[in-house]
Amino acid sequence: MFLKWLRPGAALQGLHPWVVSAGLALALSTLGNAPFWWALSQLPEINSLRAYAGLIGIWAALTLLMWVFVNVVIWPWWRKPAGVVLLVMSMTASYFMAMYGVVIDPTMVANAMHTNTAEVRDLLSLTLLLTVVIGVGVPGLWWWRLQPQAGIGWQRWTHQLGAVVLGSGLAAVLLLLVFQDLAPLMRNHTNLRYMVNPFNTVYAVGRLAQNNQAQQQQPLQTIGDDASARWPDAKAAPLLVLVVGETARAANFGIAGYSRATTPQLQALQAEGDLYYFNQVQSCGTNTEISVPCMFSHQDRKANAKRTMNYESLLDVLRKAGWAVLWLDNQSGCKGVCDRIAHFDTSNLKHPFLCAAGECWDEIMLDGLTERIALLAPERRARGTVVVMHQMGSHGPAYYKRSPSNQKKFLPECTSNALSSCNAQALLNAYDNSIAYTDYFLGQAVDWLKTQDQPTALWYISDHGESLGENGIYLHGMPYKMAPKDQTHVPMALWVSQAMRQHWAVDDACLRTQLEKPWSHDNLFHSMLGSADIQTGLYQPEMDITRACRH
Ligand SMILES: [Zn+2]
Repeated sequence: MFLKWLRPGAALQGLHPWVVSAGLALALSTLGNAPFWWALSQLPEINSLRAYAGLIGIWAALTLLMWVFVNVVIWPWWRKPAGVVLLVMSMTASYFMAMYGVVIDPTMVANAMHTNTAEVRDLLSLTLLLTVVIGVGVPGLWWWRLQPQAGIGWQRWTHQLGAVVLGSGLAAVLLLLVFQDLAPLMRNHTNLRYMVNPFNTVYAVGRLAQNNQAQQQQPLQTIGDDASARWPDAKAAPLLVLVVGETARAANFGIAGYSRATTPQLQALQAEGDLYYFNQVQSCGTNTEISVPCMFSHQDRKANAKRTMNYESLLDVLRKAGWAVLWLDNQSGCKGVCDRIAHFDTSNLKHPFLCAAGECWDEIMLDGLTERIALLAPERRARGTVVVMHQMGSHGPAYYKRSPSNQKKFLPECTSNALSSCNAQALLNAYDNSIAYTDYFLGQAVDWLKTQDQPTALWYISDHGESLGENGIYLHGMPYKMAPKDQTHVPMALWVSQAMRQHWAVDDACLRTQLEKPWSHDNLFHSMLGSADIQTGLYQPEMDITRACRH
C-alpha cells in the first residue's frame, strides 16, 4: 500500500485528515528527533525494563503532542509548504545536534541569525545535504502528494479541533503515567529540554523575538557621562591595544600548561618579564553574540543575561573621557559595541599575501595600523588611544582555515567541517595550529607596539572557549549553566612595555599575585578604565585587575 503511494501519478486521495496529520507527527517525533532519542537511550538511568517502557511512553506522548501541534499550526490553505518547513526545521536542527552535540536555545538561534556567508559556507557539507535530502525528501514527498478528505466548512474545524482535544487528553494521561520517571530525567539532564524538535526552535525564535522587541523599544541608555581623563605629559600619551580573541580555550595554551608548544611567542615575552598570563578566567557567555557585548558592558554577567535595556559600552565611556578609540574587525562585526566610534572592517580587504586565501589572516589588522591611528583626532590621541582588534582567531568548525599553510606545526589536519567524522588527533592539530597562529599574531602585535615611542600595553582575552569532541560535544554555544569548562575557561594575558611600566608605576611582584585569582569578563570593563586612568562613577576599583598594583 505504501509503495502504491510512491508510484508516479498515483493519487493519494481520500485519507482521513487525522491519518494525514498523524503521519507527519510520527515523522517529526521519530525521524526529526533522532538525536533526542539517542541522547535519552544513552543516559545511565535507562537501564531497566521499566525505564524502557517509560521511553516508549515518552515517545507516544511526544508523538501525540506533535499531532496536536501539527493540527494547531497547519491548516488546509498552507498545508503542503508548512509541513515541509517543519520537516526542514527538525532535520537541520537534528543534523547540527548530532554532528556537533549542540542544543537549540535562544542564543544559538541568535547566533545563526547573525552569521555571515563565510560562516555558513564553513558549516555546509555533503553529510548535511544527505541528511536533508533523505530526512526531508522521503517524508516530504509523501506529505506533498497526499490529498486528505477536503471536508467542508465546519468539518475542517471539528477535525482539527477534535485532534487537538483528543491528542492533548491522551498525551496528558501518558505524561502522568511516565511522570515519575520523566521528571528526574529532565531535572538532571537539562540539555534534553533544548533537544525536542521543532519545539526548541519555535520556543527559541519566539523568545528571541520577544527579547528583541523589548530591547528595541528601549532607547539607548547613556553611561559614563561623567568620564574624564587626565592629560598625560606631552609625548607620553598611552596606547592600549585590546585583542578580543575568538574561540580560543585556555586548555590549549602552552603558556597555561598545555603539553604542546602552541604559544612560544607569549612564553618568550613572559621570559622577558613583560607578559602576565591569567590562569583562571571565565567568559561571560559561550558564544560571540553574548560574550562580546558583555565584555564591554558596565554590568556583570548575571545582569547581562537578564537585561532588556540597551546600554552604551566601555568604548563610549573612553570616547567621552576624550580618548581616541578605534575598532578593527577581522570577523563578523562588533555586535553593537563600536556603533558610535571609528571602526574598520579588515576581513574583506584585498592584500596579495595576507588575504590571498579569500579570507584575511589576523595580521591584516597590523597592516597600515600607524596610518589608521593617525586618522584619529590628534587632540584625542594626545590624551590616549585604545585600539581594539577583533580576531578571526580559532573560529570553527573549519579550524584548518585559521592558520597559513607555511605555519602549520601540527599535521595532519582535519579538513572537513563534519567534525565528528574527523580523526580526533587531526581535529586537535587543526585547532592547535589556529592557537599557534594567534600566538604568532600577538607576538607581531607586541613587536609593533615595541616600535612606538609612547607607553604601550596589550590586553588579550578570548570571547569564549570551544569543545573539541569531549563527551561528543563540538563547537560552542551551550547554555551557560550546562556548558563544559572548555567553553567558558578562556585565556587572558597582559603585556606591558617598559615605558608603560613607569607610566603606571607597576609593582611587578604584586601583579604576579593576581595571576591565579579567579577573574572573568566582568573585570574587563573596570580593568580597561583603570589601564586608561579614567575617572567615572562607574569605575569599581576592586574589579580592576591591576588596580592594587599600580601606584
Ligand atoms: Zn566567538
